[in-house]
Amino acid sequence: MENKQTDFADRFHEALGSGRIRAWFQPVFRSLTQQIMGAEALARWLNPDGNLISPADFIPDLERSGLIFELDMEMIRQACALYDELRRRGTPLNGLSVNLSRLDFAREDLLEQICAALDSFSVPHEAIKLEITESVMLEDTDVFEAMFRRFCDEGFHVWLDDFGSGYSSLNVLQNYPFDVIKFDMLFLRKMSAKGRNMLASLISMAKTLGVHTLTEGVETNEQREFLLDVGCEAQQGFYYARPLSKEALMEQIDRKPGILEKKEDAVYWNEIGRVNFVNPNPMKEFAERRMNASVDRASSYDGSIALIECGRESFSYIYATEGYKERLRELGFTSVDGLENALSNQRSHYYLVIQKLVMDVLRHGTIQTIEYAYHDVYYRLSALFIARREGRAMILMRLNTFDAEQEVKTAKEMLDAGSALFTTYELVTMIYPESRKAKRIYTASSLPSYDREETLEKSVLRFCEQQMNPADQEKFRQFMDFSTMTERIRNSPGQFIQGIFRMRMGKDRISWHSARLTQIPKLSEPVFMLTIQDVQGDLNKGFDLLAETHPEMI
Ligand code: C2E
Ligand code: MG
Ligand code: MG
Repeated sequence: MENKQTDFADRFHEALGSGRIRAWFQPVFRSLTQQIMGAEALARWLNPDGNLISPADFIPDLERSGLIFELDMEMIRQACALYDELRRRGTPLNGLSVNLSRLDFAREDLLEQICAALDSFSVPHEAIKLEITESVMLEDTDVFEAMFRRFCDEGFHVWLDDFGSGYSSLNVLQNYPFDVIKFDMLFLRKMSAKGRNMLASLISMAKTLGVHTLTEGVETNEQREFLLDVGCEAQQGFYYARPLSKEALMEQIDRKPGILEKKEDAVYWNEIGRVNFVNPNPMKEFAERRMNASVDRASSYDGSIALIECGRESFSYIYATEGYKERLRELGFTSVDGLENALSNQRSHYYLVIQKLVMDVLRHGTIQTIEYAYHDVYYRLSALFIARREGRAMILMRLNTFDAEQEVKTAKEMLDAGSALFTTYELVTMIYPESRKAKRIYTASSLPSYDREETLEKSVLRFCEQQMNPADQEKFRQFMDFSTMTERIRNSPGQFIQGIFRMRMGKDRISWHSARLTQIPKLSEPVFMLTIQDVQGDLNKGFDLLAETHPEMI
């Protein structure tokens, strides 16, 4: 047994010494941009015969024989060498990740060794991401916790690898400040509705905790789209690229130089990546997290969200949910491109609307909302500033058609306003002369009801006798004459007729009141609204005087 191990160690050291232990690099892609954000270093053992041995076949042996640390350090050095080389040739790569074994954490000098390796290539600590699996945390949590803290203090980003593959625990995410959580490819292998929902919830949860998200093992376009829709920020898998030798990776980069994400852009996109598409209200959640407070304008669930990047004179859609696209169709745009075209026409209605909104958003930083009508449909567009880079800003948009909730609210407000209005009258009654009936809408005082007589005329007569000053009774009867009412109103300039009468409303003494008959428009039969309002204070005395001196004017 011992011999076998020594043999293995010799072979490993021989391979290491002759450069046959090599790091291959598998690129990581940004879901929203399809650009390369970084790459993961994966160990490959090249046999002299040219065969590649995969890590699954030698890592267990390296762990058993205590050599894994040597491998991991070698991978770190090769990652640093690649970082340095790319930087020198002007095609820098922001993040390279390496895998650490749980056994590495048994070494007290782990941090120092890693720092020394990075220093020898002048590589900044945040450039080399450290991937660890949960198995590390099962050992000695106290020791690990202290080590984790030291790595963070030194500026390293620690990633949680293979989440969901084994005994995953959500506590781990809460207890340690991981920068990225890498979801195991198992989630994608079982693309059942259940598996999808679970991954979507986990991504949402990671965002709540402020952890960035990456999913491994993406092999199909369907998986790519799914991850984009649930807001997974980064993807890695054979669909995009297999692990590549350093030379093959460089060749790929040279073929498409624009494929590399710039460092300044990484900051920008990382901030945008915090938007949680599957949250019931992504805009509210983002604003709250940033302000660390709650935003008062709560709204119901809606998945109608889009990311719009604004340049100095243009807008482009980076992402739109199905709900958002659906509403664009209601607006008459068959596609997001259609709206983009309308938006780049600087004289279009949309350009002006959006431009104003964007200016407000950039100025205030809080959620801005506008409501507007188009083709008889009301829309509400809300926007929130997310991040900025040279000459461009990312805005999160929400597009709503007016929902039932809003309509009910408006109707209720109208009703409240109507009721308040009625209280300025003593009496409001609807009169239907053709069907000979009346309907009391509102009475302020405790007036007896006058709608119980055999006919409407008799009811009016009775009201007249009971409430009206005898001197004004004849005039009131004429005022209320149904046979001439329509005619009189039509001929009056304001489409209503008005009279001043002395009346006793409720228990009060007799005083001047103004009565008005207004025709209610557009109903199948003529309807009149009778309103009676008292005349206030000094005006009463004025009318008294007028009645005495010029009774014909009253
Ligand atoms: P890992 O860190 O989770 O790496 C991802 C593995 O999935 C890699 O396998 C990669 O080639 C493979 N993979 C990537 N995309 C796809 C895909 O779309 N479909 C499928 N079916 N597979 C995909 P690899 O290179 O064989 O590595 C296996 C594991 O070995 C790694 O899992 C990692 O845990 C470990 N490992 C690799 N290199 C090192 C190293 O330098 N040090 C340590 N400690 N462990 C390493
Ligand atoms: Mg890994
Ligand atoms: Mg993994």
